[in-house]
Amino acid sequence: MRGNQSNRKRPLWGALGIIMLAVWLSGCSMLEEWNSSGLGAPGIADAATPTDTADPSETATAPPIPTVVPKPSETPKPTVTPKPTKPEVTTPSPNPTDPKQQTEGKLVSLTFDDGPDGKYTSQILDILKEYNVKATFFVVGPQVEKYPDIAKRIVDEGHSIGNHTWSHSNLTKLSDKARIKEIARAQQAILDATGVTSQLMRAPYGATSASVLKTIHNDNMKHVFWTVDTKDWAGTSVKEMYTNVMSNTHQGGIILMHSFGGRKHAIEHTVELLPSIIKDLRKKGFEFATVDELIASGQYQASVIK
Ligand SMILES: [Zn+2]
Repeated sequence: MRGNQSNRKRPLWGALGIIMLAVWLSGCSMLEEWNSSGLGAPGIADAATPTDTADPSETATAPPIPTVVPKPSETPKPTVTPKPTKPEVTTPSPNPTDPKQQTEGKLVSLTFDDGPDGKYTSQILDILKEYNVKATFFVVGPQVEKYPDIAKRIVDEGHSIGNHTWSHSNLTKLSDKARIKEIARAQQAILDATGVTSQLMRAPYGATSASVLKTIHNDNMKHVFWTVDTKDWAGTSVKEMYTNVMSNTHQGGIILMHSFGGRKHAIEHTVELLPSIIKDLRKKGFEFATVDELIASGQYQASVIK
């Protein structure tokens, strides 16, 4: 329908077109001035688009009008609007980095390896209870099997329990299979005695490698080194250990001691040392936390927790 009508009107439109062209040519310089001044003659562009452009024969008769007008006014609009919204999205982000730094106090962790046993571990637990300190015990499988009640007491009194392998082997010298078995067997002993699946691991002697750490991580555990070594296992004097701990403990520190093993009477020194470092580290503003709590707080050295 529309197509037929427009065909019939074509001669008339053609004549009109010639007249308009003549008029337009005379006003051409004026139109260019409007466009270059940024006004863009929006009325002309709007009128051209909705009705007649669908028919190519009509646009052909009056070519100058549509080609000159729409370009400058339409293209700049979309690029201007999205830009202001982007900076507003990025502004609320500075907060999440702060809370880790703003925890209550300077946290440190006391750790005891190689137990549990039937003598010293209980004495250490008594002292920790008296001073309301939570610590972390890295235990070996056979000792857990031998003293399941002490292992259970560690967990019941709010301390963390960590895996220290089955036979206290140097894991870097074992095959993949033997290493996995060392950790898994101790893990099962801890679970049987305490009902807890440990998430912390300390390799005997702190001996790790990329493959040792991979095995530990595959078991969903973190490896825990230390920042202060009391060398209590060697029978180091209480005075020497005290000076070492007090001068080398910093925020996020992890202090290595033992609750079993070492040289004869060595752990007696550890038991004697314990109340004095608890009291005096507190005086220096330190608070005691389990290694799990230390990790959760973010207050630890990246090189120590792997
Ligand atoms: Zn050990």
